[in-house]
Order: sequence, then structure tokens, then C-alpha cells
Amino acid sequence: MFYAYQIKSLEAYRELYKKSVTHPENFWSDVATHFQWHRKWDKVLDWSFAEDDLHIEWFKGAKLNITENCLDRHLPVNGNKNAIVWVPNNPDDRCRILTYNVLFKKVCQFANVLKNNGVKKGDSVCVYMGMIPELAIAMLACARIGAVHSVVFGGFSAKSIAERIHDCQARHVITCDGSYHGAKIVPLKDIIDDAVITCPEVERVIVRTRTHTPVSMIKGRDVWWEDEIAEVESLGMENCAAEDMDAEDPLFTLYTSGSTGKPKGVVHATAGYMVYTAYAFVNVLQFDPRDVHFATADIGWITGHSFVVYGPLLAGGTTIIYEGIPVYPDASSLWKIVERFHVNSLYTAPTVVRSLMSYGDEPVDKHDTSSLKVLGSAGEPLNDEAWHWYHQKIGKGKAPVVDSWWQTETAAPMISSLAGVTPGVPGWATLPLPGVQPVLVDSEGKEINEQVASGNLCIRFPWPSIIRTTFGDHERFKQAYFTTFPGYYFTGDGASRDEAGNYKLTGRVDDVLNVSGHRIGTAELENAINMHNGVVESAVVGYPHALKGQGIYAYVIFKSGHQIDEKEVRQNIAATVSRIIGAIAKPEKIQFVPALPKTRSGKIVRRILRKIAENDLENFGDISTLQDTEIIDTIVQGRL
Ligand code: ATP
Ligand code: MG
Repeated sequence: MFYAYQIKSLEAYRELYKKSVTHPENFWSDVATHFQWHRKWDKVLDWSFAEDDLHIEWFKGAKLNITENCLDRHLPVNGNKNAIVWVPNNPDDRCRILTYNVLFKKVCQFANVLKNNGVKKGDSVCVYMGMIPELAIAMLACARIGAVHSVVFGGFSAKSIAERIHDCQARHVITCDGSYHGAKIVPLKDIIDDAVITCPEVERVIVRTRTHTPVSMIKGRDVWWEDEIAEVESLGMENCAAEDMDAEDPLFTLYTSGSTGKPKGVVHATAGYMVYTAYAFVNVLQFDPRDVHFATADIGWITGHSFVVYGPLLAGGTTIIYEGIPVYPDASSLWKIVERFHVNSLYTAPTVVRSLMSYGDEPVDKHDTSSLKVLGSAGEPLNDEAWHWYHQKIGKGKAPVVDSWWQTETAAPMISSLAGVTPGVPGWATLPLPGVQPVLVDSEGKEINEQVASGNLCIRFPWPSIIRTTFGDHERFKQAYFTTFPGYYFTGDGASRDEAGNYKLTGRVDDVLNVSGHRIGTAELENAINMHNGVVESAVVGYPHALKGQGIYAYVIFKSGHQIDEKEVRQNIAATVSRIIGAIAKPEKIQFVPALPKTRSGKIVRRILRKIAENDLENFGDISTLQDTEIIDTIVQGRL
């Protein structure tokens, strides 16, 4: 029943796409009937993108609870099916398996714990945990009682957490004593203690045991997860009725990665998020309810929210939660998981593919990856070389690669091939999903009607899971997405379109280079550089150039263990770029670096590299979202 809306052929895609544009309300109301509602909607969509009348409401009047769609409705037939398979960081530890029955019970119990601790419908709850099943349980428990979860990635510092707690006005925090991250233990509770010093509004911290790291527990404020569960058990509070939520009630707040500046607290609404996320998950991956799905993203990012937790559970599938990192204890950990659990769909990010590729084929060759039917990627452009390696080496040339473009603000893939149904093209995100109306606009904000074109990527019509506001700052929401090009949702990204209607992401509009009047996207240039033998990864930015307007400055990571003649390699890289794009795109400066500044979600932060290239070393802006700030000094020292 639920899978009735899965698109099975290119013709069906085309037909549905047409319908979704000509009759969007009918289209989405057909999809929405496949979910469980307490009450159906009065109106499918009410909207305006006009700046002075900005509003977006989907399924107005409807009542529901997303957890009934993730859990309750699977129980009668699939209660004993695996919902979550948890793989610990340390390979000698035991995996945990939670069936839908078990997950349901744990969610209800913890929902009661939240109630006992004073969490009410509409309250923000900050969740700062490692990748353990309890993180998903905490999110679902919030949703069960109508609290708004705000998950903060478990790698953020005390200061960043404090900012987010303030920003979303959370009075409750859920954390762990610590978390395992490769060979490291991150003392989560300690970090929370530091954060909470500046957040007197926090009344309760619930701590789940994981690493047995010593922690201080403040009387009256801090409680153990396990004790609280024992309490609800002793009271016989096994069940927890699902709160009756309005379609537009917020489901969660989640901060963007911070690639381009200060992160935005993106707010998503319950019904629209549920409908679009499930729709995209099932279609992009061509998911089958018997499939085992493994997304490597941390749950603290949108890919984790939608493709580790909500998407697979809405689809009634099995989702793997991996506590560790792809290169611990060695570069074969993902392939080991794929082999052991017969993973059918693997979803990861280009940074992971590039990093694993740099270890060569041996870690993959040791393992049987033949269960894989789909390989997904999101977060950054997937360059050609990585695409081919992923496809050939991991997918054995059979599993289609889906490169899907989305944002925290869109909640789920918007432009993507549908695995094996619509064609995948290396370097291209390809076609919009039904219901998604992308347009390219020029610098004046005029829609470009030529079929083959490049421009600013905007969306001209709402889709159900569009961002509703930025938490506590509606003005910023307007400014960030609806002011630059009036009447459109502006993505901040640039794109090209081909004859067949495929879209290729060319990079952030702010990062575009302008060399002798030619606009060159970062994606295309980096793609060319990455094709050169021995290059692991690269990032390009522009810097002021007397003749050309902008010169190209490239930062390149070369395969470790290779002694290189830097001058010669620079010339060779320039020759490769010249051959692939043209002499115009030859970088003037090529600096070899051991690593690139990346967000904690693994994306290259070009704004910092641009400052270094421009020799503006005073103010790097918000660097709190960086994985490793020391790399900035190293790069500055090696500046050309
Ligand atoms: P911030 O908005 O704070 O600068 P961010 O944009 O990196 O951070 P996310 O929402 O995690 O935060 O990332 C969305 C962005 O990632 C997109 O706008 C786009 O630039 C990039 N992106 C995502 N998927 C793809 C893809 N398949 N191809 C190319 N770029 C992608
Ligand atoms: Mg963004």
C-alpha cells in the first residue's frame, strides 16, 4: 500500500512529474493518503513566496503523529522485523538489534521519561549524543509527545552547544557520559557541563551511559537515563499515546553545516516533512521494505535525520546505525558492515568516498559487497573520479550511483536520479523529483528560459518539506532564502541545465570564480584537478588578479607517501586542467596541503581558503563549525 507511490519507470516518472507541476495539490494529496492521520487536511497547500506575505502551509487542518507512521503502523505485521541494527565503534563489542516491537516500547518508555521530567508539547529539547540507538529513541520520543528535538552533532564544542541551546531555548538536554569516535573518547557530559554554565535556563540533563567515563552529576539537575527508565517501568508506564499534532507543528530544529557562515536553525513542520521525506527516500533509493539500508552520515546532520532515522523507519525498512568512523580501525570498516549485514543501499558523502579511495582497492577487495543494489551520495558534488570508483569498485559496475542534491532546508533529496529508473550521469544530480520545480535565474532575478543554461538555482513552488522558518529569527529566514531573487526560494547554489533537463551543481554562488570575464564554478575546476594522477582532493578559490580580475588559487592534497617534485606536479596539474576545461581555467597558484578546512559534516569551507588566497588573514569569520581549526595555520604558513 505504502509503496504504491514508488515510480517504476522513466515514462511513469515523466507522467508523474507533469502531473506534479500541473496539479501539485492533487499530486501531494494522493501521496499523503498513504500515511496514517488522526484527521485529514482541509486544504493541501496555502502559500506565497512574496516577501511581504511569506507563508507556506501544507495539509492545513490535518492531525497526525509522525511516530505512528514510523512505528505503530508497522507493528501488526512487521513487529518482529529489525528496525535498527547498531554497529559499535569497537569491532569487538556486540552489535545491538532492535525490532520494531522493541523500538516502539523503548520510544514509549522514554517519552514517558520526558513527560516525568517536565517536557511539554512544543518545548525544544537539545539532544547531544553519540551514534547509539538511544539517539534515535530520544528523537522519536520527543516527536511522540510533540516536543521539538534539536540534535546537535556530537563533535561540537561547549561554546557551540551553548549557542544552540540559547538559540532554540531548550530547558532540557539529553546526552551521554561520552562517545566513542575512532580511537578517541569524546567526554560529552563534560562538554555539556561547560556549555550549561552559560545556560541557566537548562533545568534537566538526562545522561545515558555509554563509555563509563567519570562524570559529575549535579543534584536536582542531572539524572541518569537508566534510572529514569527503571522508574517508569516500576510505575507500569509502558505505553505512551501519540500526541495529536497539527500538520504545521514543528517537528525539529536543525542547524546547517556552516559552510558559508553562521549556521541557520532550520525548522521543519511535521506533516510536510513526513510526506516528502518518505516519498524521496522510497523513490530515490528504490527502496524495498525488505532492504537493509546504511547511511553513514551522523544523525546530527540532515542526512542523518532523514536517511538514517525518519526515512527508513517511515518506509518500514531496516536501518544501520554505525557508531564509528569509516577509517577506524582501518579503511575497510564500511565494507565489513556491508558484507556482514547484507546491506542493500549505501548512502554516504563524497568526502568519504574520496578518503576511502585514497587507501586503494585492497580494503574493499577483502570483502563481499555484492548485496549492494544502490549507492547514494549527497552533501557536495561527487567528482567524476570518485563516481567511477564508487560505481566500479563498490558497486561492481552494477549498482546505480545516485548523486542527490539537497539541503538542510529541503529535508530530503530534491534533484536526483531514481536508482535504476531514471539515468544517472557522473557529475550530474540529474532530474528534479516530482513536485520539485527548479529554475535557473540570472543575476537580475529573471528566469532563464533557454533549455541549456547556467545560473542561480532557485525553486519556484513549495514542496512539502520546505523550511518553515529559522528558529527565533523569521527575518533571517526571509533574508536568506526569499530576498535575493524575489518570488523564488533561492538555494545559494549555482547550476547548469542540459538538453534533457538534467541539472548539474556547479558550486555555491558565493564561490564562483570570474576569470577574464568567464564564470567558472568550483565543482568543474576541482573535478578536473582531481582527475590528475595522485590528487586526493582539491579546493579552488579566486584571488584578485591585476589582468584577469580573478586568478585561480588551488589547494591540493596529494597522495601521502609520494615524494614529488612540486614544480613539475604543478605544471602537470595545470596541463590536466587545460586539457579538460581549457587554458583559461589553469590555476595560477597551486599549494600542496595536508588537509582542507572542512565543516564537521565534511564539507570544504572555501570562504576561509579565499581569505588566505587574498592574504586577508585577520578575520576568518565563524570558524566554530570547522572540524580542525589548526589546519588554518598550516595552510597560512605554506601560502604562495
Ligand atoms: P550553510 O548553509 O550553513 O553554509 P551547508 O549549505 O553546507 O551550510 P547543508 O544544508 O548541510 O549545509 O548543505 C547543503 C548544501 O550542500 C547545498 O546547498 C549544496 O551546496 C551542497 N550539496 C548537497 N548535495 C549536493 C550534491 N549532490 N551535489 C552538489 N552539492 C551538493
Ligand atoms: Mg546552505
